[in-house]
Amino acid sequence: MLVVPALLPDEIARGYLGRIGQYNGLLDEVQIGMMLRRFVGSEAVSRREHAALELLASAAQIDLLAFLRHHTLLPYRKIVSLHRDQDAQSWSHRSLLWSQGMKALRTAAYFCPECVGEDIDFHGQSYWRRQHQLPGQLLCVKHNCGLGYVDSDNAWLKPPSFFLETAFEVRDEWVRLAMQNPLQQRFFEIWSGLAEQTPSIYSGVASRVFREKARALGFATRPGQTDRPWLSDRIVESFGSQWLATLCPILAAKVPGAEFPSIDRHILAKNGKSLAHYYALIAAQLFDTADEALLALVAAQSSDFGRTGSVDQCQVTEVTDSELIEAYVMAGGSHSKSARVVGLGERTAALRLKGLGLPALSKGALVSLHAFYFEQNSIDESAKAGGLTVEQLLDLLRQIGVSFIRAMKRIVMVPSEIGPGSRGQRPKALNPHELSGSEAGIKFKFAPQKKCVRRHLSQIGLPEGASPPGKYPFKLAQAFPR
Ligand SMILES: [Zn+2]
Repeated sequence: MLVVPALLPDEIARGYLGRIGQYNGLLDEVQIGMMLRRFVGSEAVSRREHAALELLASAAQIDLLAFLRHHTLLPYRKIVSLHRDQDAQSWSHRSLLWSQGMKALRTAAYFCPECVGEDIDFHGQSYWRRQHQLPGQLLCVKHNCGLGYVDSDNAWLKPPSFFLETAFEVRDEWVRLAMQNPLQQRFFEIWSGLAEQTPSIYSGVASRVFREKARALGFATRPGQTDRPWLSDRIVESFGSQWLATLCPILAAKVPGAEFPSIDRHILAKNGKSLAHYYALIAAQLFDTADEALLALVAAQSSDFGRTGSVDQCQVTEVTDSELIEAYVMAGGSHSKSARVVGLGERTAALRLKGLGLPALSKGALVSLHAFYFEQNSIDESAKAGGLTVEQLLDLLRQIGVSFIRAMKRIVMVPSEIGPGSRGQRPKALNPHELSGSEAGIKFKFAPQKKCVRRHLSQIGLPEGASPPGKYPFKLAQAFPR
């Protein structure tokens, strides 16, 4: 018989899974999952049909949506919707639960040592809190102290108290800087506010509100508007590249004076989709307070909903053919992604792209067409290269129009133009010890792979007497390079 403890306030799902393991002497997530399946009576259902989050919600006897809303990072990932009528229900798509539901947004597990002490006093145990797992969050807002963190995939299987003496610690210097910068706090208030918003803010509304405000403040809101400063540059300046690297290293290292597509183009110039934290960064930069930003977005959303006529109809005339082709290149030939980039409905975008002779491309189709056009292979060889049948390749070739070759060249030959967030690996948020240097000459490691992090850790080395870990006193290992 499995013992299932009650969920604790703001407890993150993965930590809850680990705590169920602790109560039952299980030290492996797979084993805990199997026991949970037996417990909720879903053994007969395939694993694919019952995501871990569904098992946890059932075991905790809590409504799935409430569980997702209060115990996962999904609300923080999905702060804008691509459709006006989309609401929080769309989180519960099983594919989303499988792909992103349990995924962390940082590479380490974070905790507050003061909260650990209080939780042991109040709940009899410590646990992993969701608020501390947001990238960029370096301090506990309740205690105004630096967080501790553990760079291990298995950290969630043990309580934070287990790591009090061995964890890395966010240094006082970082805490002081975070507390002195009002924008950082505003950023988290806005991010949380948007995460709680139901229905989510529609991406087109967010773009319009930000565009108007940015234009009024003198920032560039169109590609090629070189006489005005980029908002992305101002964001790097105000937030500081060192802190930004703990949220999104790629923005922290942007070239000054150059457009940063995820902010300046996808959100400001189009009604496209970008990553959640970019919306919160923009809002924190453009508005003086979190309330002002949230009110502006909610009010615009209400008036947008009240408007008659479909958004698609309004936007068809706004999006030019060349913008649509640009989106097609950025989206690597995907019709649905192109639609998101320009803020059109998928059907509308697909019809217009087909009309321009730009067919929807799978990865295999891209390989085959590249082999055919640029490597001068035969139809047979080209089809084989991308895993298509000759008939499928011929069918694609029949759909191709004059704009295609120029677009295709850019998709394949200039992958950097595709932009972050649409294709390729997204760099992860860095942990403080992965950054080195001071004000001048900060060095960043991008997209650190686990191996690199491990190597880095072994170079730093843990302080003497760091193990075996105990529960008290509340003093963390000072493991940062000085
Ligand atoms: Zn705390």
